[in-house]
Amino acid sequence: MAVIAGNWKMHMGPAETQAFFEGLTVDDSMASHELLLFPPSVSLTTAAGCAERDPRVQLGAQNIHWEERGAYTGEISAAMARQAGATYALIGHSERRHVFGETDDQVALKVGAALRHGLVPVICVGETLDEREDGRVDEVILGQLDAALAVLHGADRYLIAYEPVWAIGTGRTATPADAAAAHASLRARLESTTGLAAATRTAILYGGSVKPANAQELFAASDVDGVLVGGASLDAESFASIVRAAG
Ligand code: PEP
Repeated sequence: MAVIAGNWKMHMGPAETQAFFEGLTVDDSMASHELLLFPPSVSLTTAAGCAERDPRVQLGAQNIHWEERGAYTGEISAAMARQAGATYALIGHSERRHVFGETDDQVALKVGAALRHGLVPVICVGETLDEREDGRVDEVILGQLDAALAVLHGADRYLIAYEPVWAIGTGRTATPADAAAAHASLRARLESTTGLAAATRTAILYGGSVKPANAQELFAASDVDGVLVGGASLDAESFASIVRAAG
């Protein structure tokens, strides 16, 4: 079973969300995979209404704040996301880290908030092009993973998404070998920190310009348990073809 997750970023208001679900035709082979969608928070309740009729799809928030409530204009809490229909939360997406300056400490606080409210955290890690060219891929992604694992220790379930920053929204995809190498490092760190059983059952997703044309070879790469898809998840047919590519 693969995990196919769609991150809609700042796209898809309630009307477009409704239209997406109306256009999503999923066949039987898709029932064997786990489908996750991360709509913008204003579309979560619409998506939840649609997903009720289509229980194959589960929903997540793209971002949460670590506080329970308060004077944090523009933010949403884990409890609110849960109430609106989310059961997952993306945490530490590269756009949060690099556009909004989110730090590893804030990522850890958000992981704590997600766990307190029963949201499954999807922790995103990834290196920039400069970091890759400096030979620092493992140092960066394992450092980001360690910061989250400090809080995740003992949690029932969480997912990791390896998303090289240079491959997100750029059309440049990591090769299956690049993805496999990074995933192997992440898996080894999960094993040394949380033990073999937890490391084996933790899904590690690849993200970065995944589309119908390259999905199959990425699913086939070792240690790739699924994909996190941005742009190509905005269209129901394109999302469905990626699901089909998982076999
Ligand atoms: C993402 O937003 O997580 C992502 C991987 O985007 P894209 O597929 O558009 O590169």
